[in-house]
Amino acid sequence: MIYDVIIIGGGASGMMSAIIASKRGLNCLIIDHNEKLGKKLYITGKGRCNLTNNSSIENHLNNIISNSKFMYSALNSFSPKDTMEFFSNAGLELKTERGNRVFPKSDKSSDVIKTLTTLLKINKVNVELNKTILDINKNNDLFYIKCENNNTYTSRSIIIATGGLSYSGTGASDLGYKIAIKFGHKIVEVKSALCPIIIKDDISVLNGLSLKNVTLSIKVGNKIIKSEIGEMLFTYNSLTGPLALTMSSKINRLNLENSSAIIDFKPALTDEELKEKFTREFAEYAKKDLRTYLLTLLPRSIVDYFICHVKIQNKKIADINKEDKLKLINGLKRFDLKIKSLDNINVGIVTAGGVDVKEINSKTCESKLIKNLYFVGEVLDLDALTGGFNLQIAWSTGYLAGKNVLG
Ligand SMILES: Cc1cc2nc3c(=O)[nH]c(=O)nc-3n(C[C@H](O)[C@H](O)[C@H](O)COP(=O)(O)OP(=O)(O)OC[C@H]3O[C@@H](n4cnc5c(N)ncnc54)[C@H](O)[C@@H]3O)c2cc1C
Repeated sequence: MIYDVIIIGGGASGMMSAIIASKRGLNCLIIDHNEKLGKKLYITGKGRCNLTNNSSIENHLNNIISNSKFMYSALNSFSPKDTMEFFSNAGLELKTERGNRVFPKSDKSSDVIKTLTTLLKINKVNVELNKTILDINKNNDLFYIKCENNNTYTSRSIIIATGGLSYSGTGASDLGYKIAIKFGHKIVEVKSALCPIIIKDDISVLNGLSLKNVTLSIKVGNKIIKSEIGEMLFTYNSLTGPLALTMSSKINRLNLENSSAIIDFKPALTDEELKEKFTREFAEYAKKDLRTYLLTLLPRSIVDYFICHVKIQNKKIADINKEDKLKLINGLKRFDLKIKSLDNINVGIVTAGGVDVKEINSKTCESKLIKNLYFVGEVLDLDALTGGFNLQIAWSTGYLAGKNVLG
């Protein structure tokens, strides 16, 4: 049997491609090596699936880190509003939360998967699970997908939707990159994105500490490269939480040897204003020790670490001299932690890098090198910040390929 379209990968983008192509009357088959579809989708949004961001296309483009221009056509063809309509029309009730993040009303990512798999059934998409793909060839305008046990599947076109490399437990693999290379495509080096930033200093005592409204800057050598304000979290050896994750995506192409994460605990105050604050408040705290005073400025669990890190003795406030004050200001405004590296690619929420979009037609997602070969979703060199933007990339590119395949 010859399928019109074989989709390799039954995640977000693959299922969307299959639904759209089959709605056009094309005979589609999804092949996945997992035992079920949408395994990564299941863990998205901490099990709630933040499936898009209810905001303008411009805002989506602004939140895409790599190759946002490539996404212009895809987002205009299938916008965040279209995503919401698509799921609502299929019976999935949605809600929009803080930061325009869209979730299923049930708070269950499994309901997103159920909606997609129901649409696959309605549109008679064939699905082959537990399949290990060994090789793909193209001969006389047909693609041959060779699987284990001498199974070969044949199609007129192929959509590669194998995703990125992170969270290998969800089925992530490098098959998509290998296929791309086999057909002459370039791969932009893959990097971990939206991942923790590992720290050289021993920060184990800070494990679990969460900071709000702080500025995180990245210094390489003597130069501040990036600064962002927000909320972050310490683990026993890394910085994580929204601020650190965002930062990781912005610095993953830098050489991080000799780099530091600089935390400004008081971004609303200048050095001078802090100094004036000390002058005002030290009189009141004169008989108390530094540790007690710092409790008014910092969370309790970091105070001892802070005193040690900025190299001041815990003494009476009355005994704090000019040099100590400078150390305090410096510590509060420029708390310096040495960066070891970004966490490994398996831990990143998304993978940066992948199939070079220069060789992909942005209006169709078809390869510019091989006719009837398409690439969609995270296997492409596309990655975005948190907020539903990554799944929107999957829906929009999946839609484009589904709409244009064999068109
Ligand atoms: C913990 C976590 C939370 C996330 N939360 C969100 C969120 O809330 N909102 C958001 O926008 N994004 C989120 N993301 C990112 C989002 O999940 C991905 O960007 C998105 O799933 C990419 O879709 P995709 O179709 O390209 O790949 P995937 O959804 O990963 O699908 C790829 C499919 O290809 C299959 N496959 C891979 N290799 C092979 C092979 N060799 N043979 C056969 N099949 C293969 C896989 O089994 C899988 O089914 C999150 C990611 C993680 C890891």
